[in-house]
Amino acid sequence: MGSQFSERCNHVQASETREILKVTAKPEVISFAGGLPAPELFPIEDIKVACEAVLTESGQSALQYSTTEGYVPLRQEIVKRMKAIEIETSVDNVIITGGSQQGLDLTGKLFIDEGDTVICESPTYLAAINAFKVYNANFVEVAMDDDGMKMDELEKALKANPQAKFIYTIPDFQNPTGRTMKLDRRKKMVELANKYDIVILEDNPYGAVRFAGEALPPVKHFDTEGRVIYLSTFSKIFTPGLRLGWICADTRFIEKYVAFKQSADLHTDSFAQMITAKYMELFDIEAHILKIKEVYRSRREKMMQCIDKYFPKQAKHSAPEGGLFIWVELPGDIDTQDIFNECIKNNVAFVPGKPFFPNSAQRNTFRLNYSNMPEDRIEEGMKRLGEVLTRRVNE
Ligand code: PMP
Repeated sequence: MGSQFSERCNHVQASETREILKVTAKPEVISFAGGLPAPELFPIEDIKVACEAVLTESGQSALQYSTTEGYVPLRQEIVKRMKAIEIETSVDNVIITGGSQQGLDLTGKLFIDEGDTVICESPTYLAAINAFKVYNANFVEVAMDDDGMKMDELEKALKANPQAKFIYTIPDFQNPTGRTMKLDRRKKMVELANKYDIVILEDNPYGAVRFAGEALPPVKHFDTEGRVIYLSTFSKIFTPGLRLGWICADTRFIEKYVAFKQSADLHTDSFAQMITAKYMELFDIEAHILKIKEVYRSRREKMMQCIDKYFPKQAKHSAPEGGLFIWVELPGDIDTQDIFNECIKNNVAFVPGKPFFPNSAQRNTFRLNYSNMPEDRIEEGMKRLGEVLTRRVNE
């Protein structure tokens, strides 16, 4: 058995974090491992009202097949949201996807032939690495600092890999580091993409969840040649369970996305799209996002205070102005997988850094999530984690 499988099965496996999340799902575990929004903030009562209205007013079309591009009123709302972040676009440039994860997979289908190169931040989003690996991509990692991907390093990578297919970037509150690419680098990235004639895939699920500092325009804002493909999602501002994301791109890309999406799933769930559009018609999503930001801001504050209080001074960490994650780097050659194994016995969890590096991992790193735990649990979990770290760092 096994020989019937396609060649790609050899380089695809269930993600390591899925395995970690299984261990951490037990209620006694204080988990900083997942990337889950705070479920107590889901606007359940308002969604009930929206659901009822959709079924009453347009039940038949909500439950019928619909177009691959997606529900027009939802795409119109997205166009408005895009305008608010300084991207001028139109409904024809927007396609609704099954979460932005589907956008990543379809982008792999559009661009990657076996052995093609993707240029990405180091580290980067684990499930994007896995999505592109399905198409047997090679990865060229570009170093980051606290201000995001380094542009001189990016230019070196572009020179050395003239056939690379696209630059994958998460400019706002990156997963896993929580870092944000500064303004002049966003402009520079587009200039370099123009110079080296390459597509940019901007993955931006967290930009709307900024709770400190000043908002920056997306990379796509600087796009002069229609070469930036922008992905975003309702997962972090509404609910991830409805699985609604979008791609905003030049129509020459959208046509291809539509063709591939058609063979993947015909279209995104019509009911979910209509519920979300109705919710935005009846309620104030901006007020809802404000609530999310307030909660995440204070959880992030709590976690940063706990880092100061409980972590060894040698541990370096990012200071996110939004999003869900803090990145920690320990001194020397400490392997955070060992620390994870020890911590899980004390019922506290995080994600070791290794799976976020497509090639060679910096094993002394790990990711912390603060959105999914109340502040008292953050305090307790960070205390337990700090005890293990202090012992291991001083060994
Ligand atoms: N991109 C990044 C960087 C993410 O962190 C996530 C989710 N955690 C996704 C894409 C996928 O999100 P979704 O499919 O829920 O829209």
